[in-house]
Amino acid sequence: MFWDKKMETLNPADLQALQLKRLKKTLRSVQSVEFYRKQFDNAGVAVSDVKTLDDIQKFPFTKKQDLRDGYPFGFFAVPMRKIVRIHTTSGTTGKPTVVGYTRRDLDTWANLIARNMTMIGVGKDDVFQNMVNYGMFTGGLGFHYGAEKIGMAVIPSATGNTRRQIEMIRDFGVTTIHCTPSYAMHLSEVAEEMGETLESLKTGIFGAEPWSDNMRHTLEDRLGLTAYDSYGMSELFGPGVAFECPERDGLHIWHDSYLVEIINPKTGERLSDGERGELVVTPLIKEAMPLIRYRVGDVTMLMEDGCLCGRYKKIARITGRSDDMLIIRGINVFPSQIEHVLLRIPEVGNQFMVYIDRINHLDEMTVEVEINRSHFSGELADLARTQKKVVKELHDTLELRTTVKLVEPGSLPRFEGKAKRVIDRRGDI
Ligand code: AMP
Ligand code: ZN
Repeated sequence: MFWDKKMETLNPADLQALQLKRLKKTLRSVQSVEFYRKQFDNAGVAVSDVKTLDDIQKFPFTKKQDLRDGYPFGFFAVPMRKIVRIHTTSGTTGKPTVVGYTRRDLDTWANLIARNMTMIGVGKDDVFQNMVNYGMFTGGLGFHYGAEKIGMAVIPSATGNTRRQIEMIRDFGVTTIHCTPSYAMHLSEVAEEMGETLESLKTGIFGAEPWSDNMRHTLEDRLGLTAYDSYGMSELFGPGVAFECPERDGLHIWHDSYLVEIINPKTGERLSDGERGELVVTPLIKEAMPLIRYRVGDVTMLMEDGCLCGRYKKIARITGRSDDMLIIRGINVFPSQIEHVLLRIPEVGNQFMVYIDRINHLDEMTVEVEINRSHFSGELADLARTQKKVVKELHDTLELRTTVKLVEPGSLPRFEGKAKRVIDRRGDI
């Protein structure tokens, strides 16, 4: 074992003691970062003010913009000669930010991924195809080293050439795949076209973007596997921050490694368990780039109930980033809610795009979705009925009137990595 298994289920008192010790060490280590020296000075706070875990609230947040302002290496807390790897964020929400790793960080990160994968029961007997970008994106190398650590046979297939990916799954007897849920959907379509049933597949690890429970059911059905949600972000190493256990009802976030807070994104106030808000994390185990109260931007909550498996308190699946939330005529909409509605309507396919416009000072949302040929008779009346049904179902869930356009199967874009399904054409956003 490469990590201490006890760390997954410490009792509350031991966990808090460990967190406090690690928090103090982290706060001391950021003294070498000019940003934090100034920030602590301005706020009039010092490490010596921390007596309990709650004292973290005396410290200011770190925002994504701070990391951008520190480009490229402003947040490194160790000299450059201790850095052995550099990644960047995907730049989903603007200019990418740089993250660095020491040798120990790479080890800690691989152990976290190994811990997650062991939790879902994969290991030495599994063949693992890692179908994500192996470049700057942390999902590629992150999963690669974690999976090797637990002795899986790793196929670093990266993205692209979907037919070849499917042949490898078939020929190498792949049991476990990792990719974005969008790519898994595309993979299932291509497998169907090729007449491949991918019998060897057992486990799918999907992450890097929000996906709904209906997407889970669709992927499990089409690929014949059990799908697990994997969550992380480059600023906190990459994937491995939180992961579903076999209960698949929320994600275990590793409290021995990450101090978790949920805040009201508007006021910064801390919320209680069961209240949804923005995730704020202070990593407790990072060496090269420790961060204090990092505002991750993703929306979730700490779940009140414990898990049958006995591991730490879970977070709910991420509905989206707080800045992904669309405000349409004053109503909050997450793209993952639209996906959830569309995937339960058999007459339409799994691919969609959302366009937001402002027409005569009013926000208008248009949803383009492919028809599902196997449910379409060819009659025009059938099309009109389906279109009405989609409008109604969207309205029932979102409480919002939308324009729905049904389009040909195969005509909308497919994505290899994170999908970009929303195009906001309102000038002022
Ligand atoms: P990256 O720049 O690639 O590190 O992107 C990290 C971001 O991807 C996170 O902050 C989330 O917004 C998103 N993300 C990653 N994993 C998930 C997941 N399982 N569910 C929802 N969003 C995710
Ligand atoms: Zn569990």
